[in-house]
Amino acid sequence: MGIHGNATCSLTLGGKGKCRGTLLGEENKGMKAMFLMMNEARLLVGLQGFTCASSAYSYALAYAKERKQGKNLLQSMNENAPSVPIIQHPDVRRQLLIMKSYVEGMRSILYYVGMCSDKIETTTDENEKARYQGLIEILTPIAKGYITDKAFEVCSHGVQVYGGYGFIKEFPMEQLLRDCRITMIYEGTNGIQAMDLLGRKLGMKKGKPVMDLFGEMQKTIAAAKGVSGLEEFAAKVEGAVNKLGEVAMHLGATAMSPQVMKAFANAHPFLEVSGDVVMAWMLLWRASIAAQQLEKLAGSLDPEARRAAAEKNKNAAFYEGQLRSAEYFIKSVLPVTYGKMKAIMETCSAAVDIPEVSFGG
Ligand SMILES: Cc1cc2nc3c(=O)[nH]c(=O)nc-3n(C[C@H](O)[C@H](O)[C@H](O)COP(=O)(O)OP(=O)(O)OC[C@H]3O[C@@H](n4cnc5c(N)ncnc54)[C@H](O)[C@@H]3O)c2cc1C
Repeated sequence: MGIHGNATCSLTLGGKGKCRGTLLGEENKGMKAMFLMMNEARLLVGLQGFTCASSAYSYALAYAKERKQGKNLLQSMNENAPSVPIIQHPDVRRQLLIMKSYVEGMRSILYYVGMCSDKIETTTDENEKARYQGLIEILTPIAKGYITDKAFEVCSHGVQVYGGYGFIKEFPMEQLLRDCRITMIYEGTNGIQAMDLLGRKLGMKKGKPVMDLFGEMQKTIAAAKGVSGLEEFAAKVEGAVNKLGEVAMHLGATAMSPQVMKAFANAHPFLEVSGDVVMAWMLLWRASIAAQQLEKLAGSLDPEARRAAAEKNKNAAFYEGQLRSAEYFIKSVLPVTYGKMKAIMETCSAAVDIPEVSFGG
């Protein structure tokens, strides 16, 4: 598929006879040194995927405001009704809001990991350094694997919003979708990221990083419960965090048992639900700040007051958008996450039980 615009080279060492290797650093320490680079590279690939998604959203939004096609549904019986910009169609709005909520949540996940790195540099407390390092490590498979999986989906929605123009090279979506695809593969495929989360990160340091992560999520939930208008969102995210804890315990125990193959056949779904819950956490956090700011600007959180404030004030429009992104994700995506968590609890083993000959071919 190519990563066009990038200089890419392929090296063959020893292809024409003898090849001499020179040891850099200490013997048997290469893997550790490589992972110093690799862990950073994984986060950067997450960022790369995210930037494709963010660009796809910006393009799709601009296009949807410009492209006229079809009547407004409310005018469907009116023969003389004009064609309207496609942003007026509910299905296009749905896709734009999916794109918007993922892009905003993904941006916050990456900034959060960045903040943890900054804290490591700035704190002198060794326990705090270790705590932030643990948070980075548990979040790395999500920042790389989950974000790039979802970034590709966001780009695909972008292609869809463009319709036929999305598929052809003359418009930017085709390139974004193609460029984004590599991010799910290199610096450790997302299958490997999922195995890292389940097999290494979940149980590392006796589960302290994962417990710290849950603690951070609970802090945001507790704060959101005190913000007017967010009680329902906070309760829903709290339910999902608790359920994720149950799923993690179950899958972690299965991975340590003779059922290890079955557990790892569910590693990628586990990465996905973990990412969904972290995403909901981030969107709830953003909504908590937005609700308070919007209440100040609109005078109240009454829907009419919110709409009126958004129409005349750019900041109010932004905060209203934050509340809607959180609402969409928590009410429309998180219920699906519950279904996926239920499936993981059932831990289907068909993928490991099917004999290789029965795959066909
Ligand atoms: C455009 C491009 C640029 C690249 N640039 C570089 C570069 O600069 N430097 C560099 O070193 N590499 C680079 N790579 C290589 C890249 O990191 C690898 O392609 C990637 O890690 C996957 O390895 P593989 O291709 O050998 O696939 P495989 O390891 O053969 O994987 C194939 C499939 O099997 C799965 N799989 C493999 N092993 C396991 C396992 N143990 N358990 C479960 N599933 C498994 C994978 O998840 C994947 O789905 C680049 C690749 C591409 C496409």
